[in-house]
Amino acid sequence: MAKKQFKAESKRLLDLMINSIYTNREIFLRELLSNASDAVDKLSYKALTDDKIGIKRKDFQITIVPDRENRTLTISDNGIGMTKEELEQNLGTIAKSGSLQFKQEMDKAEKGAKNIDIIGQFGVGFYSAFMVADKVTVRSKAYGADESWQWESNGADGYTVEPCDKASLGTEVILHLKPDTEEDNYSEFLEPYRIQGLVKKYSDYVHTPIRMEMEHSKMKDKPADAGEDYQPEYETVREWETLNSMVPLWQRQKSKVKKEEYDQFYREKFGDWEEPLAVIHTAAEGQMEYKAMLFIPAHAPYDYYSKDYEKGLQLYSSGVLIMDKCPEVVPDHFSFVKGVVDSADLPLNISRETLQHTRALHIIENNVEKKVKAELLKLQKEDREKYLKFWKGFARQLKYGTVNGYGAKKEVLQDLLLFPSSNGEELTTLSEYVERMKEGQESIFYLCAENVEMAKALPQAERVLDKGYEILYFTDEVDEFVAQTLMQYMDKPFKDAASADALPESEEEKADAEKKAEANKPVLDFVKEALGDKVFDVRISKVLKSGAVCLTTDGPMSLEMEKYFQRVEGGMAGMKAQRVLELNADSPVYGALARAVAQEPEKARKYAELLYDQALIIAGIPVEDTAEYTKLVCELMV
Ligand code: ADP
Repeated sequence: MAKKQFKAESKRLLDLMINSIYTNREIFLRELLSNASDAVDKLSYKALTDDKIGIKRKDFQITIVPDRENRTLTISDNGIGMTKEELEQNLGTIAKSGSLQFKQEMDKAEKGAKNIDIIGQFGVGFYSAFMVADKVTVRSKAYGADESWQWESNGADGYTVEPCDKASLGTEVILHLKPDTEEDNYSEFLEPYRIQGLVKKYSDYVHTPIRMEMEHSKMKDKPADAGEDYQPEYETVREWETLNSMVPLWQRQKSKVKKEEYDQFYREKFGDWEEPLAVIHTAAEGQMEYKAMLFIPAHAPYDYYSKDYEKGLQLYSSGVLIMDKCPEVVPDHFSFVKGVVDSADLPLNISRETLQHTRALHIIENNVEKKVKAELLKLQKEDREKYLKFWKGFARQLKYGTVNGYGAKKEVLQDLLLFPSSNGEELTTLSEYVERMKEGQESIFYLCAENVEMAKALPQAERVLDKGYEILYFTDEVDEFVAQTLMQYMDKPFKDAASADALPESEEEKADAEKKAEANKPVLDFVKEALGDKVFDVRISKVLKSGAVCLTTDGPMSLEMEKYFQRVEGGMAGMKAQRVLELNADSPVYGALARAVAQEPEKARKYAELLYDQALIIAGIPVEDTAEYTKLVCELMV
């Protein structure tokens, strides 16, 4: 029968895997056992509501059969099995989730570092079988199917699928081991003690019994007529033994679990190639008893900020998996958290609907929120580098979380936020900012700009910086909304450093400013008239010190918000900020403008246009008519 080809991705990975110097090939067993255990979990979950399945919980098992004569190693399970389509889908494609990072890592691995532990990192699962086998046969009967199917492949050039005679539910993976060579010994995977060791090492907590027939030397019973000088005799017996202790990782004592075990568990279970940033392993008592093991990933999954991402924790009821991704136990703002929750207080026989109303889930959710926040704060204080890594991946989540629901969760999240500031290169928390506040400083100053460099260059913040006050740089479009939502932090209000009232004004200063505005009215009126509806107003600036012009706004919409709405709403009409052109009456440029207004109105018009364009450029807003702008500059030069 015709062979079907692997999808391109699979082919590349296979080549990479089989040909790369890969020392850790023993993990194939862990991968296959983990698949088998998942399959058992799925069927035993179905068995909760379908009594036709007829396998009792205690009868679920995984078996390993090494066969020296035929040089095969067979791993069988009585789990959910695979249909013909699933065999093709699951075993004929790799990286079916389309994980971008996965492909990127693959490319990286191909480009140079051939010996990186790519397989160990990804847990590529089933395909690792080809590291030890030159042919793999999978026989499977799926739950709900009448017929069974056999999939077979030598890894290199495709696979075949045909009907077979497997009668019982489940899957059998038969590895035809490669021949030994001078460097490579594959026969070791036929040795029961070696296999037992591997199960202990990698799969001890798999909660389905993994069984194998072991040979023991056993003392024979002493015969009744044995004399004084009887020497005990031994015989070899074969017995089925359970190799794994089956205590799930989360049921073990925290102090007894090694970091590597947590890392391996996380990577395998949640398909991440990178170890988690933090692990929270807790046991709750009181209102509700449960064990939880939570992980904070080191980076956002490729689909995290898309609607495809599903949050949730694995839910177990006394060791039985009842739901793979239960969203109710993870608050939205911490949707990145992965992990498991196991509680005897959860109903085994659940449906989505009843689960939604289970009060128990809300108790868990609240605790998860508390624990995760505490862990993040701890990282922030004790391991800033790690926290920055976390922040890189999830800043957006925490900021949007702060703004969402009119700030319903701001109390939880405000301490976790970081911002760039004028204090230095490092990001700062709000509480660190407040600690550094100067005597007499009443507000937390911020400045909105596209990036830190532009923020630093904004002339309108100079007078605040000159007072020695620190300014937070808001470079994310959501930042300003965050400040608006928080309104204040530790009783200190947020204030735009570019606003006229950023610094308190004395009566004298006020009177001065009014006088100045009055005296310069003719110039201001002229410029306003020249610019027409480009600006809402033209004023003598209270905020500029050495700069000549800047653009600010009146009303609730800022320039950064305008940019945001332009992008998001496609520049919908009416979504414009009220632009105010501010001029520094003490600058030489202003002097030139004033003279021109009095003596050469045509030139003054050009000056007005030019100053407006300068203000746009400083604010990071594209000049409306660049050709006109260039012409203006050239005309004024000659
Ligand atoms: P992963 O386990 O990471 O999804 P694998 O390549 O190991 O990747 O397996 C691919 C898929 O094949 C699994 O997700 C599962 O749906 C299916 N599968 C593998 N082994 C078995 C098995 N023993 N029983 C049932 N399904 C299996």
